[in-house]
Amino acid sequence: SPVIVWFREDFRLADNEALFAASRIGAPLFCVSILEDGKSAMTASDWWLGKTLTTFDATLKVRGGALHVCRGNAREVLPELVQRSGARTVLWNRRYDPDGRETDTDLKRTLRDAGIEAHSFAGNLVHEPWTVRTQANQPFKVFTAFWRAACQIDDHRPVLPAPENLDFWWEDVSHWDRWVAATALEDEMASLEWTRPLEAHHEVSESAAHEHLETFIDTALSRYGVERDFPAMDATSGLSAYLRFGQVTPRQIRQAVRERDVRTGREKFFAELGWREFAWSLLWEYPDMASCNLRSEFDAMPWRDDPQGLRAWQRGQTGYPLVDAGMRELWQTGVMHNRVRMVVASFLIKDLLIDWRLGERWFAETLVDYDPASNAMNWQWNAGTGVESAPFFRMMNPVLQSRKFDVSGAYIRRWVPELAALSDRDIHAPWEAGTPPSHYPAPIVDHAGARHRALDAYEHVRKSR
Ligand code: FAD
Repeated sequence: SPVIVWFREDFRLADNEALFAASRIGAPLFCVSILEDGKSAMTASDWWLGKTLTTFDATLKVRGGALHVCRGNAREVLPELVQRSGARTVLWNRRYDPDGRETDTDLKRTLRDAGIEAHSFAGNLVHEPWTVRTQANQPFKVFTAFWRAACQIDDHRPVLPAPENLDFWWEDVSHWDRWVAATALEDEMASLEWTRPLEAHHEVSESAAHEHLETFIDTALSRYGVERDFPAMDATSGLSAYLRFGQVTPRQIRQAVRERDVRTGREKFFAELGWREFAWSLLWEYPDMASCNLRSEFDAMPWRDDPQGLRAWQRGQTGYPLVDAGMRELWQTGVMHNRVRMVVASFLIKDLLIDWRLGERWFAETLVDYDPASNAMNWQWNAGTGVESAPFFRMMNPVLQSRKFDVSGAYIRRWVPELAALSDRDIHAPWEAGTPPSHYPAPIVDHAGARHRALDAYEHVRKSR
């Protein structure tokens, strides 16, 4: 009978513990993935997943296997697959989001109760999210302390190679009622108009992830520490979506960087990967981090109900060039430079005084690298609602940020072409230009006035403490 390997956020051959362990059992592999029921394929990260299923299936086919994709509720589908295939063993790599954790715990129990061997392995983090703790066994609330402790933990797990000579179970399952083609999600997404621009910006596969990594190490890593905050400089790795779907692991990244012995920029880059680990350790501790203020006094914040403002922000029509450039980059490419993510988040939360959760949701729908832990943590940190995050009253000035980090306006020119003809000086605040471009909106809010409004609103929070 076959061994089932259930793929979820780990679509890779190399450094895949569950796959590696399965390959050593000596039974043919039945590789499956489950598209959850009721999940409408409408988000940018679903687009990435659709491509991922197709390319991973192709990768397995080259080795003589296939990825068998089924649709439905995993709690029902997986036991069905076990029964129909006669498998006695099911293996998977852990996922750490609240729903996934619950499903996996239930499934493990159900399968074991039925006499099936069910084993899970470490997922796509360097350290399991519950392992980096204070001496009092509490979760860290401050990144620097978390990272110091994380760096001191010995990591004995080897970075695994892709298993050689995989042997696959080869029964035709395409007539099973849950079965869908591995390309099903990609095909569904291709019919959606808004996914077209994404095609031009991403190549989605395990090998593309590694090519990206190599190019980054060769061309940008040594500049990373100095240039990573400048959106026009192309000095970051672009690995976030690959990390999210497990086409590359943080341990492979660390190994590749160490092997090449690039020292400049390295520690800064590792620390950014550390923020990802920190986010997951927080989500593990605070499962409702995407929906509840971690600092509950912010429940008293009088957020504004402003659908028009929200819409202008989503569409990149706020009249603030750097904000609009970021939001348009997001819509076209499914990613946005980190510095600009901070600026647009601050603008929504503080200039427009719109609840950070609406921004979190918009990012969740439009980012190809949407990650429930990193997204929630970063939104809460920018809102000042996270534990130990920067205070709410620290507001980013979108014009000063623009002058500082997009000095020549190259990034704005790329995403807001109607401003391209403005001088390097005027492009950050077109309303100050002698003749502002007529087809670009005037600012939807005055930053100085908005600042006072936000500080007044914050008084409610302070008083409610
Ligand atoms: P690099 O600079 O090359 O960094 C390497 C890796 O480190 C990234 O791929 C990522 O995995 C990790 N990393 C870097 N910065 C952060 C950070 N601040 N927090 C957590 N991990 C980090 N990142 C996501 O992966 N998914 C999200 O949904 C997400 N939402 C965000 C929302 C807001 C409001 C903000 C301010 C940031 C968000 N980030 C998110 C973090 C960060 O912006 C992206 O990880 C980064 O821009 C991805 O580009 P890169 O791979 O070139 O990063």
